[in-house]
Amino acid sequence: MSPLPTSREVSHAALLQVLRQVGPTTRAELERTTGLGRKIVSERVQELMALGLVSEGELARSTGGRMPRTVGLQADRGLLGVAQMNLHQTTVALTELDGTVLVREQLALGAAAGPEAVCDGIATTLRGLLESSGQTSERLWAVGVGVLAPVDRDLGHVAPGHLFEGTALAGWDGYPVRQRLADALERPVWVDNEVNLMALGELRSGQARGVDDVVLVKLGPSIGGGLVLGGRLQHGAAAAGEIGHLAVPGEEPRPCWCGGRGCLSTFASTAALLDEARAEGVPLPAPAQDPQPADDEDAVRALVAAAADGHPGAVRVLTRAGERTGAVLAGVVTLLNPALVLLSGTLVAEGDVVVDAVRAAVDARAMRVATESLSLTVSPLSDTAGLVGAAAMAADGLFGPRALAVWLDDGAPHRDRAALQAAAAADR
Ligand SMILES: [Zn+2]
Repeated sequence: MSPLPTSREVSHAALLQVLRQVGPTTRAELERTTGLGRKIVSERVQELMALGLVSEGELARSTGGRMPRTVGLQADRGLLGVAQMNLHQTTVALTELDGTVLVREQLALGAAAGPEAVCDGIATTLRGLLESSGQTSERLWAVGVGVLAPVDRDLGHVAPGHLFEGTALAGWDGYPVRQRLADALERPVWVDNEVNLMALGELRSGQARGVDDVVLVKLGPSIGGGLVLGGRLQHGAAAAGEIGHLAVPGEEPRPCWCGGRGCLSTFASTAALLDEARAEGVPLPAPAQDPQPADDEDAVRALVAAAADGHPGAVRVLTRAGERTGAVLAGVVTLLNPALVLLSGTLVAEGDVVVDAVRAAVDARAMRVATESLSLTVSPLSDTAGLVGAAAMAADGLFGPRALAVWLDDGAPHRDRAALQAAAAADR
C-alpha cells in the first residue's frame, strides 16, 4: 500500500494537472482552478520551477495593473516512449511530457508476430530513436504502450482467459507486457488497450477535448471501442468498450472467436469485408501473402476507392458494414447518450460510404433524445491519437500525488520503479 500523499504533493499534482490539460496559465488562474491559496500556489510553482518542471512564459493580458506572466509545463524536461500496436505493424515514438510527438518509426511487426517479438521490437526501436535523436537514455522517463487486447492495468498484463488460441493473437493471453518492457528499458511502464488510448488521445488533445461523453469506434481487422464518460476514460470492471463483440440485431448467429455469436466483428472486420468484396467481384490487389493478412491495408484502400468510384459491389459491401456498425452503435448511443462519436480506421478515413451508412443507421435506430445531441464524425488524429493517448497515460502515471511523492525530490523518476508503479495504481 502506497503511503498517503502530503498536502504538498497533492497541490503539486493539482497544479501540474491544470498545466498539462489547460496549457500556460497565470498564477491567479491556477488559484481559481485548483482552489489553492495565493501563497501556496506561489510556493509550489517556485518549487516546480526549481525542479525544472514548469517555467515562466508569456505576459498574459492584464485586467488592470501589472501584466502577469503565465507559467507552463516544461514539456521537454523528460521524454516518454510510446507505442501503438496493430495486427501487423506497431508505431513507436518519443514524445515530450505533454504528448507532443518528436520522432516516430513504424515497425513491420505487430501483435500477430507474438508478444516477445513485439515487446523486444518496441524496446529496441525506443533505444534507436533516443540514439538517433541525440538523447541519452536518462532522458527517457516512462513508457506507455497500447496493445491489441484487453489489459489488466494494475499488473500491466494482457487480461487472461480471452481464448486467443487459434487466432492471430495466440500467445498474448495473460502476457506480462509491463514486466517485459520494464526489464528491457528500466523505466516505469503503463499498458492499456490501444483503442482506449486512442479515445484518451482524442480527449486530451484531439476532437474530444472538452467533451465529457465520447465513444470512439475503431474499424479495422478487429473492431474496438473506447468510452469516455464524465470526462474520464472508462475501463469498467475489466474491459469496457468491446463494441466489436456486441451482436448485430437481426443477423445470423455466426460463431465468433470470443465464444459469442453474431458479433459485429464477424461481419464488419476488414477481413470479412475483403472476403465479401472479392465475392462481389470488386477488383482488389492480390493478397500480398498467403494467407492474406487480416489488415491488408492496400486491399482495404482499394475497396474504399472502388466504393468512392461507384463500383456497385463495393458500395453494397461498405454500406452493409456501415449499417451493421450503426445498428450496434445505436444501442450504445441510446444507452450512454454520448455528445460525440468518433469513427477511426482506413475504412472511414478515406471515404464517406461507411460513415454515411453508420450515421443513417444510428439516426434510424437510436432514441431521438440521444441523436439530437449527437455529433458523429471521423477521428482527425487517427493513428496519432493512440500515441498521444499512450503519452497521456504515462504522464498521468508520473504526475499523480502518490507517484510524485516517490520521485519528485529526485528530479527524475528513475530510482524506485516498483514503488512508483504501485503509487500510480493507488492514484487512479
Ligand atoms: Zn465476438
